Amino acid sequence: MRAGSIHMSNSSNPSEPGGRAASAPAATLEWQASCTLPTRWASFQAHVFVEQATGKEHLALALGALAGTERVLARVHSECLTGDTLFSQRCDCGAQLETALRRIATAGRGVLLYLRQEGRGIGLVNKMRAYALQEQGADTVEANHALGFADDQRRYDVCGPMLRHFGVESLELMTNNPRKVEALAALGFRVQRAPLTTASTAFNAAYLATKASKLGHLLPGAIVEPDEAGSG
Ligand SMILES: [Zn+2]
Repeated sequence: MRAGSIHMSNSSNPSEPGGRAASAPAATLEWQASCTLPTRWASFQAHVFVEQATGKEHLALALGALAGTERVLARVHSECLTGDTLFSQRCDCGAQLETALRRIATAGRGVLLYLRQEGRGIGLVNKMRAYALQEQGADTVEANHALGFADDQRRYDVCGPMLRHFGVESLELMTNNPRKVEALAALGFRVQRAPLTTASTAFNAAYLATKASKLGHLLPGAIVEPDEAGSG
């Protein structure tokens, strides 16, 4: 296991607010601590890494032997406070998080990276502003644009040192987002995509449709019946 500082790239201004992905700060991460994290699906080993440039604390939940394993079942999940912890039905984040952890537990092996980039990278304040604009008729992409942000401000370069910490080189990545697959492949990982469909609700159907039509997410049929939740 590799520990300590792992430098990935150079950066201009790490504190630039709302900075575009192109000027993203350097992904230098330090592994800090780990512990057992029992959940309702499995007892994961939780690891926390600190990104030097931003001070952000990123997490990994690991299960089973990962080093050198082919097609490690993996999820790269970006923080969504409202969806992951407050049961919001405006998005599908909480359902995706739960499905991914359950699938890793069933497989007995895998890793979930929990990245601290709230609101597709614009932060909680701006996500709330975007929600307010959506209440006036904007979709999720239009709201981001109205606030001066790109469609999706997330960056995935922090995944490189985290996955390499566990000796992972080959992934079966649970995602509907082709950008995520491309980003990890560009970091040198062998990536196979596994769809991650969840139930559509009355509140998030329009959001899911926008993710499919404007953000290129691969959502076959776009809407999945509730009794199929998590089975895709
Ligand atoms: Zn969400």
